Amino acid sequence: SAFRNLRGVRTAAPVVRAADGDVLLAADGLTKSYAGADRELPVLTGIDLTVRAGEVVALLGKSGSGKSTLLRCLAGLIPPSSGTVSYRGAPLTGANPGTAMVFQTFALLPWLTVQQNVELGLEARGVPADRRAEAALQAIDLIGLDGFESAYPKELSGGMRQRVGFARALVVEPDVLMMDEPFSALDVLTAENLRGELMELWESGQFPTRAVVLVTHNIEEAVLMADRIVVLGSRPGTIRETFEVALERPRDRDSAAFEDLID
Ligand code: ADP
Ligand code: MG
Repeated sequence: SAFRNLRGVRTAAPVVRAADGDVLLAADGLTKSYAGADRELPVLTGIDLTVRAGEVVALLGKSGSGKSTLLRCLAGLIPPSSGTVSYRGAPLTGANPGTAMVFQTFALLPWLTVQQNVELGLEARGVPADRRAEAALQAIDLIGLDGFESAYPKELSGGMRQRVGFARALVVEPDVLMMDEPFSALDVLTAENLRGELMELWESGQFPTRAVVLVTHNIEEAVLMADRIVVLGSRPGTIRETFEVALERPRDRDSAAFEDLID
């Protein structure tokens, strides 16, 4: 079928990106424990992982397997207990400057409008006020929320709220887009639509993000969206398996073949 952008307008053929070998993110011997009542509780116990330009990597695992912990370490939102995370070869000392995050439950500020929520990401990165509005409106348009700039989150459906979440992440033009179960709070049809639109947008090259890390417990979603799937074992939190998803986008895959992946 002809490629269409988010507004339903025919555009040039999509740029299908391929992993070009540039390592954007790397975890080396990454461990993470949380303080328990009487001892440290290990969650990640030695993760080696790279994310290269051009690829969508899914982190797949059961609830509690450490997916969010791993994603947060890669984004520099929490420090590892040992080992390193680096972005373009430079070890992180704080928030990863090359990533932006989309959260499962949107994490919008209810007292701010759509546009103000989207501008937050820019504000945090010190973009001057006059440039923020223009970039925010562009991102809002790209994600299909044109006309809703002044709406408040409570006036929007779940799917539209998550579009705001995507706009807020994409507006900073992250090298790597991080998504923590971004569709799992949405109903099945809304999730399917948004997933499809996001993949079209990614493949169209309309935003400069070069790689995507998707956390999910949904095997079908991982198979549909990812180029590579990293499976976390249920315990202790270490990588059980990593494999390439061979088929090309657009995805029309049989996820049944992968159903034994999560034990
Ligand atoms: P997932 O995203 O795969 O569900 P998480 O990374 O959220 O897994 O959690 C992995 C384990 O770490 C779980 O047992 C969870 O209870 C624990 N955990 C997560 N965050 C914290 C925290 N801030 N403090 C203590 N334990 C935590
Ligand atoms: Mg999680």
